[in-house]
Amino acid sequence: MSDIQKYKMLIDGKRVDASGGETFESMNPFTGKTWAVMPRGTREDADRAVAAAKKAFTSGEWPKLTATQRGHLLRKLGDLVAEHAESLAATEVRDNGKLLAEMGMQLKYVPQWYYYFGGLADKIEGAVTPIDKPEHFHYTRHEPLGVVAAITPWNSPLLLAAWKLAPALAAGNTIVLKPSEFTSASSLEYAALFEKAGFPPGVINVVTGYGHEIGAALTEHPDVDKITFTGGPETGKRVYATGASQLKRVSLELGGKSPNIVFDDCDMDNAVKGAISGIFAATGQTCIAGSRLLVQESIHDEFVEKLVTMARTAKMGDPMLMDTQVGPVTTVPQYEKILSYIDIAKGEGAEVRLGGAKATRAECGNGYFVEPTVFTGVNNAMRIAQEEVFGPVLSVIPFKDEEEAIQIGNDVVYGLAAGVWTQSIRRSFIMAEKLRAGSVWVNTYRAVSYMAPFGGYKQSGVGRENGQDAILEYMQTKSVWMSYATETANPFIMR
Ligand code: NAP
Repeated sequence: MSDIQKYKMLIDGKRVDASGGETFESMNPFTGKTWAVMPRGTREDADRAVAAAKKAFTSGEWPKLTATQRGHLLRKLGDLVAEHAESLAATEVRDNGKLLAEMGMQLKYVPQWYYYFGGLADKIEGAVTPIDKPEHFHYTRHEPLGVVAAITPWNSPLLLAAWKLAPALAAGNTIVLKPSEFTSASSLEYAALFEKAGFPPGVINVVTGYGHEIGAALTEHPDVDKITFTGGPETGKRVYATGASQLKRVSLELGGKSPNIVFDDCDMDNAVKGAISGIFAATGQTCIAGSRLLVQESIHDEFVEKLVTMARTAKMGDPMLMDTQVGPVTTVPQYEKILSYIDIAKGEGAEVRLGGAKATRAECGNGYFVEPTVFTGVNNAMRIAQEEVFGPVLSVIPFKDEEEAIQIGNDVVYGLAAGVWTQSIRRSFIMAEKLRAGSVWVNTYRAVSYMAPFGGYKQSGVGRENGQDAILEYMQTKSVWMSYATETANPFIMR
């Protein structure tokens, strides 16, 4: 047990255990072994963290800071994340099994969120209205909401935390962050940077524990003003309903079943790479996975052949090695879910063209690996085409023409992202307009940026992250009226 790391939560600037003293274990999905223990936070811990965040919002240093000063703190935090990017990335890999090659790049990119929103903090201007009432002056103020509960999933913990923390802090809110029980370590290590950056105690708190315990307690807490959640659709709906019962602000980034659409006028080699990165990168554990590959009938067989040939070469194994291309699945329940969907697809009559089973290659050791899997003969009504698998499982669906590609592409409850591969400018614009998805990529896939709004249509979410408008998701507008009339008007007539 001596190698096992013990973590503490951050509440009101102090490192603390759970109030009940209980812990839970975190498993390394490559070795299958426990490597760390985390505090199993309780409802009482949620209360403590929310109270600390509320106090920090209403009194002390934080509310006195100017927006420019908040911006400085955010930029300092960005610098510290950059300094610690390597060690934070290694912690994430230990916890979620994603490739060090990817997490390393991701952590080096995370500071940009703090720089961008740090710069934006003092550029949120209200307006003076040319108001239609005589002898009145009217202006607007954008004010922070209060305490924000930020709940993150296991696939990209610190990247997705930055999407929430950077705009929320820039706007002047205070935070309680709850990472996934499967990947809590990086958020707890991250917590050490908040104090170093100079954030007053209580402005950012990090609690850990089970979603149905401390996660639910946060969403139910009457002093939480806004919930910002990234995770699965079922949990998202529960969180939305809880938030609605208290009329809280809620933003949700949920799942997807994104179409990656290949037309016969595409550059085929590029499209093959795009299809592969769409589904096998991050072992398919991304909300934007291009899990439905729509291929025009005229090139279907040739394209599938090229795709399978390339996908077959993917090197699996230790995610810490820089040449590994497909790592393990992060959690045991997720591993079992992926394998069960493979069985469902076989039962529905889809044809396995590649993989279709757990991976037993020597280099996969005791890890939770699934072979990169390609199903052909899928029709869009099948469960494998409609439900999010969140794993390295691709469904290939043929289509005849543009109209059918749009119809199939949009025929799911989700609308997070879509890809299009074509060399026609006309077709690019038409597809970008007609696909009902929050992000559409033409001749590229999986590109995200702090500058580009991100979010879901339909059941993929509510609200947007990233881009300038994201800060307004953490603010409310106040209308201020002032009269300079010498005499107050008739009190029985509305003005
Ligand atoms: P999840 O099971 O929904 O969990 C997400 C977070 O919610 C975790 O921190 C979880 O804690 C917490 N939680 C669980 N039950 C809760 C409750 N009753 N009240 C409050 N919080 C609760 O999702 P996941 O399995 O971690 O992540 C995978 C999903 O996230 C996929 O569906 C994927 O598409 C989606 N995702 C979406 C985006 C996007 O931006 N659209 C990005 C990444 C992932 P525990 O882990 O402790 O249960």
